Amino acid sequence: MFPALETEVKQESLPDPYEDFMYHHLQYYGYFKGHRGSLPTSATHQHVWKNNPRYLLSGSFGERQGMVPDPLQKEKLLWPTCISSPVHRQIEAVSRDSLMLSSPLLKSRQLLHDEFGEVSPCLREPRDLFTFFSSSGPLQAPRWPIECEVIKENLHHIEWVPPQPEYFYQPTGNEKLPEIVGEEKGTVVFQLDSVPTGGSYFTSSRVGGKRGIIKELAVTLQGPEDKTLLFESRFESGNLQKAVRVDTYEYELTLRTDLYTNKHTQWFYFRVQNTRKDATYRFTIVNLLKPKSLYTIGMKPLMYSQLDAKTHNIGWRREGNEIRYYKNNRDDGQQAFYCLTWTIQFPHDQDTCFFAHFYPYTYTDLQCYLLSVANNPVQSRFCKLRTLCRSLAGNTVYLLTITNPSRTPQEAAAKKAVVLSARVHPGESNGSWIMKGFLDFILSNSPDAQLLRDIFVFKVVPMLNPDGVIVGNYRCSLAGRDLNRHYKTILKESFPCIWYTRNMIKRLLEEREVLLYCDFHGHSRKNNIFLYGCNNNDRKYWLHERVFPLMLSKNAPDKFSFHSCNFKVQKCKEGTGRVVMWRMGILNSYTMESTFGGSTLGNKRDTHFTTEDLKSLGYHVCDTLLDFCDPDRTKFMQCLTELKELLQQEIHKKFNELGQDMDLEGSWSDICLSDIESSTSGSDSSLSDGLPVHLLNVADELNQKKKMYKKKKKKLLQTRKQRNEQYQKNNWMQELKLTEDALSRLHGRDKGTSLDPSKMPSLILTKNKERMQV
Ligand SMILES: [Zn+2]
Repeated sequence: MFPALETEVKQESLPDPYEDFMYHHLQYYGYFKGHRGSLPTSATHQHVWKNNPRYLLSGSFGERQGMVPDPLQKEKLLWPTCISSPVHRQIEAVSRDSLMLSSPLLKSRQLLHDEFGEVSPCLREPRDLFTFFSSSGPLQAPRWPIECEVIKENLHHIEWVPPQPEYFYQPTGNEKLPEIVGEEKGTVVFQLDSVPTGGSYFTSSRVGGKRGIIKELAVTLQGPEDKTLLFESRFESGNLQKAVRVDTYEYELTLRTDLYTNKHTQWFYFRVQNTRKDATYRFTIVNLLKPKSLYTIGMKPLMYSQLDAKTHNIGWRREGNEIRYYKNNRDDGQQAFYCLTWTIQFPHDQDTCFFAHFYPYTYTDLQCYLLSVANNPVQSRFCKLRTLCRSLAGNTVYLLTITNPSRTPQEAAAKKAVVLSARVHPGESNGSWIMKGFLDFILSNSPDAQLLRDIFVFKVVPMLNPDGVIVGNYRCSLAGRDLNRHYKTILKESFPCIWYTRNMIKRLLEEREVLLYCDFHGHSRKNNIFLYGCNNNDRKYWLHERVFPLMLSKNAPDKFSFHSCNFKVQKCKEGTGRVVMWRMGILNSYTMESTFGGSTLGNKRDTHFTTEDLKSLGYHVCDTLLDFCDPDRTKFMQCLTELKELLQQEIHKKFNELGQDMDLEGSWSDICLSDIESSTSGSDSSLSDGLPVHLLNVADELNQKKKMYKKKKKKLLQTRKQRNEQYQKNNWMQELKLTEDALSRLHGRDKGTSLDPSKMPSLILTKNKERMQV
């Protein structure tokens, strides 16, 4: 199936007044006799992607399938369970009728004319999603790569908050380390077919994924006594690749890597059926890749029992015993894998249960939420829902604009903007829960929410990487790359979601000040919630980027840790949303990291976070925005003073660590903020892998040619290490200058304190020497 056409066929089922009008018009004049499906299609980005000569160099995209619409396509449109199709047909009919009445005025899709058709035509407002379905509408069914098998069942989990805090697991010291035996000694009870790994790349997508009847992957039970668990993961965000039964109640599990890569296993989400109540089961995931994990410090996996949900209204909960995270001892010299093992007792016989790394939040969950907003007569007045772009697979990336209507143009122009986004990393569903909390609050009728909508324009991209979320990736898009390393990209067709986001923010910045940019993530090594920001270069605003995080820590002291925040701009993070937006001029530009585990703070100490905790952070962001913008600057100034004191303490600590006295001979110009901070590596760190996988062949060819050409005028290139060192040095120099100035203002050059800037050149020499040796 030609992907562009599939998209078009799908879109056609939404009655577009202009196309309907043209369709009838052409038919009337006899220019067009075919059925709607054969209308010529406009170019979508996939169309462009697939046929652009730039991408045909490798010869791999040469095949062009017949442009025949898929006859099954319409059947595959999913209708939201809340809306019956007769209701939808009525609405469609009403839309068409109203179109007929207004059609004499329609002259173009974009230009609006007044009643007489001539005077001062102006551009139409961008069209809202669901405009024609003001009270309901079809959800866009998720599009999958055509290799992916997808089961037809719709999964739904209830939202629930455990009445008691869920404490971290306390190791007893007697946890078993199961030896991995593999399929040679066990029985494969579940295995995905044809999984695209490294070396292949995304070609086209389809609603419902792979064509035809999907294989029954689970084993067939031999009767009621057969205790084999039946596994499944071929649903949205699921990612189990293989299950091997190695003992009656013991299973070894392999996770699917991110599509078109052979990396990034971390997120997991799968289903088991045919459970027994009075047995202890053991699961061991055998192909994790991170050396460190929150599972080593008390995090428990999540379990969901369908019977408990139905009968007791109980949802996802932390379960598991004998939890261990450990390195798999392989002596074959290949890549090291890490294992997560846990035991579990199921609450019921013959139950359907799910396991997950974190509370799932799928693309369909988001669409249901957005549909409820669009259908809410109050919320839809101040929340406009639009398509930012389509992902590689053709899924809609939504953009929400939330603001109260302004009374005057001056009032509208004076509003500052706030940009929030989530799920660039699809396996970090934490982001969606914080986003949901934010949206719940900002769309509410609370006076604070109303005030915020009065003074701000909120631009929200709730799911930056829908394809990744749908297929159950942990980190990448279907380009096989971490999008949060590509915010500087010029490859619009390969990285549409972030290209359009950056472009939207660029235009927003031309129009108004963007006070805050925050991208919501999950963190796999540290507990609590914290922010990564960017040390700013402007002396006038020294430490200002830390005020918002400090205020947030005061508003959410049980969850948010200012101590874990970091403001270092590392070279490997240059392509992240946070750094790119900061370089575009947004001073308060952040990555919000929220743990997969829980809190180590205050009343919530040693307990896991619930979805309610994460949602509350969305509210705290709003609350903190009000503090941050309070016309009475007392809170702001107080925080600034506190930050300066904190920094001073940090500097003292560093001096002590270095074993040097504070009254060294020298100058302040040799201390930098980056030296005081550790690096931010963790779940927010992965190196850019470069070009999207489908362009690698093309790039190789070009590079070969370039090399041939350049051979004669080859000059000495610096090694990567040298370049990094040079970069670090430049960074230090910049920050040193800043610190010198700011600290001298803070303490006064003439006070003769031990922090006198003119007294310490040798310190940094020592430090730099140390660093060079590392
Ligand atoms: Zn992340």
